[in-house]
Order: sequence, then structure tokens, then C-alpha cells
Amino acid sequence: MKKKGEYDFGVIERKWQKRWQDSKIFEVKEDKKKKKYYVLEMFPYPSATGLHMGHALNYTIGDIHARFMRMKGFNVLYPMGYDAFGLPAENAAIKAKEHPAKYTEKSMKNFIEQQKALGLSYDWSRMVITCNPEYYKWNQLFFLKFLEKGLVYRKKSPVNFCKKCNTVLANEQVHNGKCWRHEDTEVEIKHLEQWFIKTTKYSEELLSEIKNLEWPERIKLMQENWIGKSYGTEIDFEIDKKIWKIFTTRPDTLYGVTFMVISAQHPRLMELVNEKQKKEVDKFLKKLKSVSEKELEEMEKEGVFTGSYAIHPLTKEKIPVYVGNFVVADYAGGMVMAVPAHDERDFQFAKKYKIPIKIVISPFNKKLNEKEMKEAHTKDGILVNSDKFSGLESKKAIDEITKYLESKNLGKKAFNYKFRDWLVSRQRYWGTPIPVVYCEKCGIVPVKEKDLPVLLPEKVKFGEGNPLLTNKDFVNVKCPKCNNNAKRETDTMDTFFDSSWYFLRYCDNKNDKEAFNKEKVRYWMPVNQYIGGAEHACMHLIYARFFTKALRDLNILDFKEPFLKLFNQGMLHGSDGNKMSKSLGNVINPIEKIEKFSADSLRFNLMSLASPDKNSIWSDTTLESSYRFLIKVMKYFDNVKIGKSSNKIKSKLNKTIKEFTKDIEDFNYNLAIIKLRALFDYFENEKEIEKEDLGKFLKILHPICPHITEEFWGKLGNKKFISVEDWPKVDESKIDERLEQEEKIVEQTIEDIKNIIRIIKERQGKEAKKIFLYVLPKEVELYKKEIQHIKTILNLEIELYAVNDKTKYDPENKSSKAKPNKPAIYLE
Ligand SMILES: [Zn+2]
Ligand SMILES: [Zn+2]
Repeated sequence: MKKKGEYDFGVIERKWQKRWQDSKIFEVKEDKKKKKYYVLEMFPYPSATGLHMGHALNYTIGDIHARFMRMKGFNVLYPMGYDAFGLPAENAAIKAKEHPAKYTEKSMKNFIEQQKALGLSYDWSRMVITCNPEYYKWNQLFFLKFLEKGLVYRKKSPVNFCKKCNTVLANEQVHNGKCWRHEDTEVEIKHLEQWFIKTTKYSEELLSEIKNLEWPERIKLMQENWIGKSYGTEIDFEIDKKIWKIFTTRPDTLYGVTFMVISAQHPRLMELVNEKQKKEVDKFLKKLKSVSEKELEEMEKEGVFTGSYAIHPLTKEKIPVYVGNFVVADYAGGMVMAVPAHDERDFQFAKKYKIPIKIVISPFNKKLNEKEMKEAHTKDGILVNSDKFSGLESKKAIDEITKYLESKNLGKKAFNYKFRDWLVSRQRYWGTPIPVVYCEKCGIVPVKEKDLPVLLPEKVKFGEGNPLLTNKDFVNVKCPKCNNNAKRETDTMDTFFDSSWYFLRYCDNKNDKEAFNKEKVRYWMPVNQYIGGAEHACMHLIYARFFTKALRDLNILDFKEPFLKLFNQGMLHGSDGNKMSKSLGNVINPIEKIEKFSADSLRFNLMSLASPDKNSIWSDTTLESSYRFLIKVMKYFDNVKIGKSSNKIKSKLNKTIKEFTKDIEDFNYNLAIIKLRALFDYFENEKEIEKEDLGKFLKILHPICPHITEEFWGKLGNKKFISVEDWPKVDESKIDERLEQEEKIVEQTIEDIKNIIRIIKERQGKEAKKIFLYVLPKEVELYKKEIQHIKTILNLEIELYAVNDKTKYDPENKSSKAKPNKPAIYLE
């Protein structure tokens, strides 16, 4: 792209990147006298393919914000690190026949270089890499603290298993019944013993605090739904002399219960299955797979009788218990009372297996008949066949029946969450080893704190099961308690464990005595502005919130929420409008674009495309236009005559700074750029300009284009980096509102003329050749001043008349339509 005599962006950019690095201007320390501001982007997992355009967008948004807040005088912490453990690296490494450690190291090196090429103002001295023992040691310590506190437990339960990942998954990692990494792979259910973190201990706080967060509403809603609190009644049903507590939101239908359904994944299912039914139940269980809530709605409801009966708490009737495919193990304890007359799923099931249907809620306007029902009556109504509650309205019956159950000690008001504990163990290699030992005598024994970290061994075999099992020196250990032979845990931690607290480690990343110093964290945390994609709404963002609360209760932290504000960037699509993907061949490589056009042009273009929180479509044309604009700016600065600024430019500049600042604060970067381009047009039309005003222009352009602004700031004779200069203040007294108002009027007139030209062309097929403008006498001066500007924009001849001008040309008497600030227009 660079032609002879033009600017070499590459040289300029590399020069300033090196100067920033050498002078360490972005490295920060705690400073009680300065107000802190913590800007953070979700850290990436380093892959060999390097930075993609989504990263470039994400980091540019963050960098602009960080640079802006720095210039506003804040002590800005803006760090970067790598979510370096994880399955993608392990799988890619296996494929490339390389050790995951090597693969990750190479990928990270590449990533860092590419991020530096974008001109990001990170404090690189605070880098955090999760696969380093200096980091994961603290994962292990936190794990043990949680274990001590009862926040970690091991249990056999039905778990999600992905064949392709060859490991179990957390509930949060199952999306619509498929693996979050493998959209084509159905998740299976396996009954395995696994490690869980008791995230549900914080269900209520996680839910109730959402409303206080300055996060996008949709993310807040997603978290609320994920936690999913519902209110109802818990009713005791006796099965085989044992009490089963059954949650329902419809206790008003209690008299209509004709069967019970236990989830196929219920851990206690087998207690209910008797000898006679065992074969059939086993057959049924073999066919099951994990399904999404939506699929659950649509699929055929199936089940098998377990052989057990529950006793109805009020009527004492015997009610058969079925195992069914439509009850989620995670909901309401995994067993429901079925009321076929008033629940559609139960209705379908009852029809299929010829179970009696009993109407207990009668609609207000008609009478139901069991034999004629085509679907369940799920709405409100009047209770019938419900003993002494018959005749009550269903809403009222909910309270009355609950009260009655409470008085008989057969139930109570209750609520229920959809939220489940976090399955945190993985049967994979590239993660933090779980620091416990299994001893035949002592059971589960935590590794002693002084023996941490449990290092991930380098030598393992990949390919058959969990690679860690193949290293005998790792597996065979002495029991920390009794010193007998014992086995080490070979599961590793879900990498979401690593990313649940990395933002704390940035505050004190070199500490080898503790995970972080409490005082340092108190100074920097919480994160003021977090930036990342919406895909983490119900994974990372929930885990990190949980972690913060759990550490607070361990007296390690003294605040309750990690991220005050969250910004979700939109998705950048390929120029064909589709999601960028290799198979569509529409992937744009940011580094190629930087090499061809420069980082400043790329940043400027990314921010011009759309509001950063909206989806946008990549365009090479706009990138070239951004590039040409920046060349124009540089040429201008090299040739500008320094002198005195006109009042007009002072007004424009101050007005723009005012509006631009607001736009940058609100992340309306695209709008800020439009204003900046307009301001530049005015600059270009001035004969001379003050040095200070040129400096102000560079300062506001700086967060978006950090390199060329440093370059020309220096050329203006400044010694300090513009990166650490103050953000320009607005001088309101310089804003000439009358001038601004006049301009608005003229702009509106231009728009009006354009509209008339368009209408005449559409309706009469005529091209306008000449414009006649009729203005009020007192507006003549203004329009005379602007006439050249209007001509240039419209590229047409214009004649201007005062409405009272006797000599005017006005064949259709249009001049009578002129109003204040709104000239009449005639076209020929
Ligand atoms: Zn998978
Ligand atoms: Zn022992």
C-alpha cells in the first residue's frame, strides 16, 4: 500500500511500541494519592492460529478506554495474561505431535507479539499465565481451602460426558444437549464419581446481587434464568417407609396426582426399582442421552414403572412411581408429582401408559370431562374433587393447601433453584492437578500446604484415557497422613477454575508467599470495567462471581462482586455478512491488515464500523478509507501553518471535545470518530492554527490511533509522551452557540434541497440544474457566507434572494413559503 514519498506507518508504529516498552510508561504501582481504575479484557486462551479479528476488536475497545482513563488522570491498571491450560491446547498439541507445554509457549509468544503490534497499552510486567506452577499453586491452595470449608466435595452422580472431549463437563458447558466445544456432539449421561464445587451455597446471593451490577440487561437476565429461582411448596410423599420431599409450584393440584416421575438420572433411582422391574428399567436407561430443555419439550415422553408406590400425603392412596425421560435430575430434587389433568407433559405420559386422569381444577366457564380431554387444563379455575378445598379458586388454594400441609407437618413453603453445583474435575492432562491423595486407610487426604504445588508431570502418554495415569511416579505416592503407599488424584481442574480469580493475581502477580497481597487487591479491585463476549454469561461470569464470594467468606477478600461494569462487544462478521469461519473463507487476519495498512488504520476502522456493542460487518473499503484519512491527517500536520486560531475553529474544537469526550465515555466510539472527522474538515479549511489546538486534536485522536499521535505530538516539539498527557479540557466560553446554531440551519437547508432534488427526480424524472433560495432579509448575510459551502456540497448553481427582493426570479411564487431558519427552495 505504501507508495514512494508516503508515510511508513510500520516504522512509526514499531518505534513507539519500543519507546513505550523501554520507558515502562504503562507499568503502574499502587498510589494512594491517585484514583485507581482497573480496565480488563477477558484473557484469551493462546492458540497457534494467533489473534483473530474478534480479539483485535475486543482489545482495541479496551485499549481506547484504558488510554482515555489514563489521560483523564486515573491510575490505570490494564493487564494481560493467558488462559493457558485447557483442552484445545491439549488436543491441538496431540494433533501436532507436540507437548502441550511447548505448543502453549509458542502460541503465547506469537500472541504477545501480535498484541504488541496492535499498540495495546498493557502493563506487561503483570502478565499472568495460568499453566505456570507459580499460578496454579494457588489454584491448589484455594481448592484445599474450599475442601476444608465443605465447599468442595466428591460424589458419584449422573454427569455429562463428551466423547470428543473424552471427559466430563459442567452443566454450564452443555448447550442444548451438545458439548460447548463440539456443537455436533451429543452429551451422554454417565454415572461417575467426580469433584464438585458447592456453587449452590451462593445461589441466593448470586441471584440477588445481579440487579446491582452495571451489566448489559441481557447478560443479567441470562444469569437470572440460569440460577432460575421458583417459589412453591415442598410436600412429603412416603415411599417404602422413607420420606421423599417433592417440590411443586402447583400444590392446588395435589388431589389430582395419579403418578410420580423420578428422573432417569436421579442418584437414588435404584432404591425404588424392584427386582421385577429391574430389567425393563435398565433397558430404558440405556437409550437415554442428555437433552436440552427445548428438546425435552418436543420429544416423546417415555418411562417405565419402577415397581414402587408413593403414599399420597392427604388421601393416602397408592400412587405408582415411574422413571421418566422428561424430568431433569437437576430440577426440584429430580422427582415430581404428576397431575395429568393439569400438566401437558404429565397428560401425554398418562395417555401413553393408560394412567388415570383426575380433574381437580375446573375452568371458570365450562365443565371438563376426563374422557373428552384433548389436552391438559393448565390454567387457573375452581377446585373440584379436592375434599374440603373444593370450591376454592386455584390461586387461593395454593396458600390454603400449603398451610394445611404445614399444620400437619407434611410440607412447607419452599423455593427451588435450577442452578447446580459446579462439576470441576476433568480426566485430562493439561490442567491443574487436584491436590489430594487416596489412601486405603485414611481415605481422601489433602496434600500438605507446604508441599504445594503438586507439579504437573511432563512425561505422560497421550491417547489412552487420562494421560496422568501413565506416569507412575506421579500416581504412586506416600499418604501425607500415615505415610503408607497411596495413589494421587489424577483428575485435573476445569480451566474455568483458573479464570475464576486471575483478575486478582494481576494485582500482585509476583507474590510467592500468597496468591496476592490483600492490601494491593484492596487498592485495585473491583475491576471497574470488564470487557468481553456474551458467550461467558453463564460460565466464567458466574464462576468468577462465586469465587469472589467464597474468598470473601474465607477472609481473603473484602468485597463481594468482581466486575462492577461489563461491556459486551458485538460480533464482527466477514464482508459477506456471515460469521467468520475457515470453511466460508471469509476470515480476516488482523496481522495481515496491520502489515498492509498499519495498526492505527485497523483500530480506526474497527471503531468506525458500528457501535462496538453491536454486530458489524468487515469491510476492506472502509479500512482503505480509514488509512487514507490518517495519511491526510499526517500530511496536514506536516504542512500546517502554525499561527492564530480563528474563533470559529476554537468554537468547533471545544464543542467537539465536549461531545467526543461524552461519546468515548459511553463507548460510542463510532460516533466519536464521525465528530473527529468533521472537526478535521474545519481544520483543513483554516489558513493557520495555534499549536495548542493542534495538540488538542492529537490528544483526542490518541486513544484510537496511539502511534501517529505520538509521532506528531513529538514533531510539535513536545518531550513527554502523549500517552500520559492530560485529556484536553473544554473551554465552554469558546463555544459560539450562535455560530453552531447557524451551521445547523445551513446543514438542514442542504438536507432539504437534497430531498427536493430526489423527489423531483423520482416523480417527474427531472434532473435539477439550478437552485433558487429565498431567505428572510435578516438571514441573507448568513447564507451569503455559506453559499460557497452549499454549492460545493451539492455541486449545483445557486441563486440567493431575500424574500422582499423585487427583482427576484420566482416563477412559482415559492418565496412566500420561506420561514425563519427555513428558506424556501425552487429548482429548475
Ligand atoms: Zn466436547
Ligand atoms: Zn493414609
